[in-house]
Amino acid sequence: MDKLRPIYGALLVWCCLVCWASTAGAQEQVSFWHGGQELQLDNPPLWQEGRLLIPLRSVFSRLGAEVDWDGGNKRVTITQAAITVALTIDSPVAQVNGQRRALDGPPVLYQDRTYIPLRFVLEALGYPVHWNADARTVLIGDQDVDGNWQAPLPEDEVPEELPVVIEQPAKSQKRVCLTFDDGPSANLTPQVLDILAQQQVPATFFVIGCNAEREPDLIRRIVTEGHALGNHTYSHAYQEIYASSQAYLDSLRQAGAVLARITGDEPAITRAPGGTCGHFTGDYYHVLRENGYCTFDWNVSTGDSALPRPTVEQILANIATYSRNGTIKEAVVLMHDSPTHETTVAALPQLIAFFQEYGYVFEVLTPAHPLAK
Ligand SMILES: [Zn+2]
Repeated sequence: MDKLRPIYGALLVWCCLVCWASTAGAQEQVSFWHGGQELQLDNPPLWQEGRLLIPLRSVFSRLGAEVDWDGGNKRVTITQAAITVALTIDSPVAQVNGQRRALDGPPVLYQDRTYIPLRFVLEALGYPVHWNADARTVLIGDQDVDGNWQAPLPEDEVPEELPVVIEQPAKSQKRVCLTFDDGPSANLTPQVLDILAQQQVPATFFVIGCNAEREPDLIRRIVTEGHALGNHTYSHAYQEIYASSQAYLDSLRQAGAVLARITGDEPAITRAPGGTCGHFTGDYYHVLRENGYCTFDWNVSTGDSALPRPTVEQILANIATYSRNGTIKEAVVLMHDSPTHETTVAALPQLIAFFQEYGYVFEVLTPAHPLAK
């Protein structure tokens, strides 16, 4: 019986649409429009027993939003610009930028998929939503299919909620985390951020504390633009930080305090200068864990710390080799954005294109990542 409860919930959420579907013809296609353009979905909307299943990741990624699914907590987070909408399965309360908001119906799980109220989320992100029954279109934003502003339709033509299904990353979904070490630098970090913004790709920046002190605006920009900050020690001076696990911890804490002063938060994710291999002994991991840190190495190196610096072609060849031609499931890519890595920046657009072509989803590192140590 408990197993059926989500299904009843789904039926409730969908009832308005079901009524419409039965009159309009269940096989009719529904299209989504934004800014005068049809959103091309990766997978077509799917009619199933009178319900319209919409691939949420497609819709929101076309709008430039990020969708995060936390399977452990059954929680979905949708982020765009400075707005974050968080919904939890079976909870009638959503959080919009941390503020509690009541939902007409809770998100539900149905056949391992997550249905959330599309209208609520879009409106929370600042998009008006219009349902045009004649054209079978969902208009997102203030423009109609010709790009003209369209007045809202009469209330009775507007379903209470438009349903959406999140396509959770399939078990086979490949993920890539781009990481940049040793910054921020005044000459290259802004270029890296510009490229990431243009490509709408998030990354993780393992910054050195003393560099962060010099470039607080770049640290703030990294955070505001949706990237993750990681701690790469305060000094990056091997003799000092690898003198003992306590010395290493001291350097992490010093950098953490700098970052907390700038952003209000101390990152939990860290990366050992030069990697843990050959530097860490068991007590380093112990000390990190005791103090709430985790550490990341990498499994795809651009080789960009070598001297002389590799060319763009060599960087791309390294990526292909270490990712086993785009087949490894969890890629963590090592790059540097310190002052002498111009070729890394030059290779970045093609590097991103490589992972896109091989079907990777771009994510930031978090303590929950499977490669966290
Ligand atoms: Zn480093």
